[in-house]
This record gives sequence, C-alpha cells and structure tokens, in this order.
Amino acid sequence: MTDSVDVLIVGGGPAGLSAALNLGRARASVVVVDADRPRNAATLRSHGFLTRDGVPPQELRRLARAELLQYPNVEVHVRSRVASLLFAGDGFIAEVEGRRETSTVFARSVLVATGLRETLPEVPNIRGFYGITLFSCAACDAWELQDRPLALIGETPDLAARARLIARWTKSLTVFTNGADVVDAADEAELAASGVRVEREPIAELEGDRGALTGVKVASGAVIPVEGGFVRPVWTPSLDFLAGIAPSLDELGHLVVDRSGRTSVPRLYGAGDAAAPGPQQLIVAAGQGARAAAVIVHDSVGIVTAH
Ligand SMILES: Cc1cc2nc3c(=O)[nH]c(=O)nc-3n(C[C@H](O)[C@H](O)[C@H](O)COP(=O)(O)OP(=O)(O)OC[C@H]3O[C@@H](n4cnc5c(N)ncnc54)[C@H](O)[C@@H]3O)c2cc1C
Repeated sequence: MTDSVDVLIVGGGPAGLSAALNLGRARASVVVVDADRPRNAATLRSHGFLTRDGVPPQELRRLARAELLQYPNVEVHVRSRVASLLFAGDGFIAEVEGRRETSTVFARSVLVATGLRETLPEVPNIRGFYGITLFSCAACDAWELQDRPLALIGETPDLAARARLIARWTKSLTVFTNGADVVDAADEAELAASGVRVEREPIAELEGDRGALTGVKVASGAVIPVEGGFVRPVWTPSLDFLAGIAPSLDELGHLVVDRSGRTSVPRLYGAGDAAAPGPQQLIVAAGQGARAAAVIVHDSVGIVTAH
C-alpha cells in the first residue's frame, strides 16, 4: 500500500468508489480502504440506480472497482479497515488493518464514506427473511411487493409515518410495534381510516420458508398472514475510528457536513449514508461521493467552489 497520498477514502461503497473515480480522473493519488461489508449485502438485487436497476449489490461494486483499474493513481484495498485516524503535520495519518498486516498511510485529505450499521428489531428469526421478502427501504424494494398483504415491523417513533409511506404500495398493511409504545391513538385512528391495522403484541416469530414470509406470529399465538414487508432498523454510523479527530456529529451520530461534504475539520470530508441525516440510496451516495471529490480538488488548489 502506498504510504503517502493526496486523498485517503475510508469505505468503498458507492459513495467512496464514485469519489475515487472522480479524484483519479483529477490526477489525485488515492487510496481506498474498504472493509467490504455493504449495508445492502443482505439483499439479492438493488433497485433504482440508473442503468443498473436490479443489479446484485456486490456486482455494482465489482463493476466500479474494475473501472478504477485503468487509473494507476488509485489503489483499492478491500477487506481492510481504517482502525484510527489522527492529525499529522499538514494532514492525517491512518492506521490500516489489512488481511495480513497493519500499516499506516499519510493523506493530505480524507473522505469518510463508511455507511451505516443496522440493528434489526428484536424478533428471533428476522434475519432469515431480511433482504428476501423483508426490506428496510420502501423506495428500493416496495415495487416488487406491491398489492400484497404486508407487514411493517419496528420499535421507533417514526413507525406511523413509515406506514403512511408504505401504504402507497398496498391496501393491506399491518404495523407491528413488537410491544413498543410507539404509535399513539391519534396516529392509529388515522392509519385505521386508510385501512392500516396496528398490532401491539410482541412478535413471537416470523413464519415462512427459505426467506419467503407467510405470516407474523404474535405472543398470544395468533398468526397474521402477510407475504412480505418492511422493518425499521436502528442505524448507527461507523465512525469510531474518528475518535482522535473528533469532528462534529449530529444527535444520532452521523458526520455533520455542509452541502459540499466538508466536515467541521479542515480537509476531512464525508459522503454517503455516514454523512446523511438518514439512510439514502445507492445513487444518492454515489452522487455525494462525486460532489465531495470535486470539492476536495477545488479546495486543494484554493478555488472557492460553487458546489
Ligand atoms: C437490505 C437493504 C437493501 C437496500 N436496497 C437498496 C436498493 O435496492 N437501492 C438503493 O439505492 N439502495 C438500497 N439500499 C441502501 C444502500 O445500500 C445504501 O444507501 C448505500 O449502500 C450507501 O452507500 P455508502 O457508500 O454510503 O455506504 P455502504 O454501501 O454501506 O459502504 C460503506 C463501506 O464502508 C466500509 N467501512 C465501514 N467502516 C470502515 C472502516 N473503518 N474502514 C474501512 N471500511 C469501512 C463498509 O464495510 C462498507 O463496505 C439498501 C439497504 C439495505 C440495508
């Protein structure tokens, strides 16, 4: 691994790889370090990315990494992670844990594109359905589930709002709070008026075979038949490695960035889900990566950018 570069990109999802492409074309020397655990790894197909609707998540990354091979000034190291980042001289020094060894990289600028980790609701066998018939992003996956009886499972106060959104795609929706007190009476009445039912009992287990959801069994033993649905995970940005730099984070732990991707720390930038107020989509993350790349280049030559 090159030990001194213009830009270190932490995270090789659509945000990081899109930034790498644009920085490479701007003749910056770039190292991408990627633990290679995409947030959408659970799903078989990704939707909504122009020209790649339906592409498997790892295939999108493989195509992006293949394009980067023609830029000798860009290195991509997968299954490696940045363990820490510290100030050093006029830049940053990163400790990189590789597959076999630990090394350090000095970079003038750093782009953080590490995405989010997800914690699913407390339901024993929920993982077996996630990414197959149970998803978290309506914009990404509701088309394939439209007009079927669906479940929405979550334990957070935005559950009623998400139910209103998912009701665009089905007339048969049951909201499962899994015993959490997160849908008030007014919201329940409004949902009921549009045919959405709220089930407040804790979930005992999900029923179905090989990821195909057929029902939700609640604590009393009743089974509500469904053919798929959505969960509301809790999202946590992966930013522990920034403890020594301490950029501003919002109340949910996301990196605070301006509209150009600049953080509160000079020459530290953010793009993608790690720097958004909520989870986004692949093409949004890629767009943010491209914009951050342009801003990094402009900042490096002292241009006040219009991005
Ligand atoms: C089940 C599911 C299905 C989805 N389906 C769709 C869909 O169909 N269409 C769509 O547009 N969006 C979809 N999404 C959302 C989409 O996956 C995200 O919006 C997108 O991946 C965000 O891109 P990113 O580059 O910010 O982060 P990610 O794609 O999560 O990439 C971040 C990368 O950084 C790495 N990383 C983390 N910490 C470190 C570290 N310290 N050092 C090095 N590397 C690190 C991670 O391992 C990962 O590889 C889905 C999400 C889920 C959960």
